[in-house]
Amino acid sequence: MRQRFRNILIFVLFLAAGALARERPYVILISLDGFRWDYLDRGLSPNLEFIRRHGVSALSLEPVFPTKTFPNHLSIITGLYPENHGILFNRFRDPFSGRAYALNRPEAVRDGRWYLGEPFWQTAERQGIICASYFWPGSEIEIDYRRPTYYEPYEHERPYETRVRGVLNWLQLPAEKRPHFITLYFDAVDSKGHRYGTGAAETDSAIVQVDSMIGLLIRGLRDLNLLNKTNIIVVSDHGMLDVSREKVIRVDEMLKGIPCTFQQSGPVVMVQPDSGYVEAAHKRLQQQARHYRVYRRQEMPDYWRFSGHPFITDLILIADPGWSLLTSDRPLRGRATHGWDNHLLAMHGIFLAMGPNFKEGYRTGTVKNIDIYPLLCKIFDILPRQPIDGSLERIGFLLK
Ligand code: AMP
Ligand code: ZN
Ligand code: ZN
Repeated sequence: MRQRFRNILIFVLFLAAGALARERPYVILISLDGFRWDYLDRGLSPNLEFIRRHGVSALSLEPVFPTKTFPNHLSIITGLYPENHGILFNRFRDPFSGRAYALNRPEAVRDGRWYLGEPFWQTAERQGIICASYFWPGSEIEIDYRRPTYYEPYEHERPYETRVRGVLNWLQLPAEKRPHFITLYFDAVDSKGHRYGTGAAETDSAIVQVDSMIGLLIRGLRDLNLLNKTNIIVVSDHGMLDVSREKVIRVDEMLKGIPCTFQQSGPVVMVQPDSGYVEAAHKRLQQQARHYRVYRRQEMPDYWRFSGHPFITDLILIADPGWSLLTSDRPLRGRATHGWDNHLLAMHGIFLAMGPNFKEGYRTGTVKNIDIYPLLCKIFDILPRQPIDGSLERIGFLLK
């Protein structure tokens, strides 16, 4: 009898160990907008340093072109280049229907027709994993199955503590309702960087502020006994570079007399000459090209992967680092920005991760943000949507 009881006990323990080994992890993906790769070395971010020490870290995170907020957040969450996920800039036009996408127009950001890729939360929910988002571009799409179960409409002024508390509240839901994948977003480093410059005291304060929120989250997870079950991944969408009033190019003046429309200003401008004027505009821009480059859409360098979407204009101008391409209705604003070549190191962000699925104290070189989507799929052991541009091979070694 005792023998039989012992066998049953061993069997039950065996089952429990198996279940534990397969226990579904938690992942919190945090975006610190505009946190340039080297801000980590300013000695202002002890909580990020804690993650770096106890987990994995990359020298930098390579964004996609253009190095803007919405294209990059969508690339991180879909594993696709902008030409494939469809969010080309923070604002852009569909020249065929005349519709306009803009990050500050809720009816546009919620319109599913703009978004071509499958965000990770959709991939995960299809495979039985509940997801939540405390802000992420694309998380508010007005189609139930393309959205995380729990989400918050973007509110720029929402206090940061409220956001962290919101995430911790989701993690206290009953098991059958509790999300396992959660996103979280903070803008301060980007906002202050734009306004005051990369070296400003205000930008340093923003680094301290967002870092303290990481600390608040870690303490909260520890109190809930979830810290050792949770993978915390901290990324940023791009870096930041100071601009100068002496480094300005007036695109509209250069194209005087040639009918055309402009989209964007700053590091990149998309130019659409009226029909029949493309060659004239190209020639004029080519002849005067100093401190910028002009490309015909089909001649864009391969590595930008920015030519395959029908809404891209016939001509694209890219300024040299620190230079700004402007039009009369868009003067230079702020002290720093981003949007330039994604190979420029100043445009690179951060990648840090800590938790049960990640190696400990492991540092690697630059990783690409399009590879994060397949990494998330691997952590949850689910199938990625195919085809994608990202690759697990380039990033999977960060996992245990
Ligand atoms: P950028 O112009 O590329 O610097 O964009 C940064 C800005 O994007 C932030 O200051 C936020 O106001 C805005 N933003 C970030 N996430 C969202 C979102 N989910 N919905 C709307 N706006 C957002
Ligand atoms: Zn950004
Ligand atoms: Zn920005």
